[in-house]
Amino acid sequence: MEKIDKELKKIKDEVLNCKKCPLYQERSKNKFYPVIGEGNHQARIMFVGEAPGLNEAKTGRPFCGASGKILDELLESVDIKREDVYIANILKDRPPQNRDPQPEEIKACTPYLERQIDIIKPEIICPLGRYSMKFLMEKFGLENQIEGISKIHGKIFKSQNLLQNVIIIPFYHPAVAAYNPNMKKVLKEDFKVLKTIIK
Ligand code: URA
Repeated sequence: MEKIDKELKKIKDEVLNCKKCPLYQERSKNKFYPVIGEGNHQARIMFVGEAPGLNEAKTGRPFCGASGKILDELLESVDIKREDVYIANILKDRPPQNRDPQPEEIKACTPYLERQIDIIKPEIICPLGRYSMKFLMEKFGLENQIEGISKIHGKIFKSQNLLQNVIIIPFYHPAVAAYNPNMKKVLKEDFKVLKTIIK
């Protein structure tokens, strides 16, 4: 096994045993799986959603329900294969009734995501939705440029630190397009920016 695969497997094992937040009880009570992340371990692009929904918690796979269908359509619209990217979430476990992630859950869970980012080293990270946008822009020193997602969706932010140059492009969460065709148009338009930067 490659070093990268081994390091990611270690995170998976740790998450499977993680009891740092109350969502662990939800997981065991409902016989759910944590959704650790999926995709190419050397991906140039990483998508980061919010938290698993019901389908995801039942299967352990990110974006495999209604939002996942929309994400697949968006990827296809810009000729990006799902197997070439990596997809993760801010939280690994499903909050009950899909409620918003709580600050203490984000605090407990995001160190795993940060390690996944350090290992995979994507060039481009695309937060899907406002929780992910806030967390990732803060992590990459872009907190001064945070505005509402309705203002900065589809925009390119360049983060430079000593260790990693990363491009952050926040998008609306695909779920917003589930019942709103106009939002799907906006998302499709925004996704086109990916084509211009991955040549
Ligand atoms: N919504 C998310 O934010 N993540 C998933 O994995 C599925 C739905």
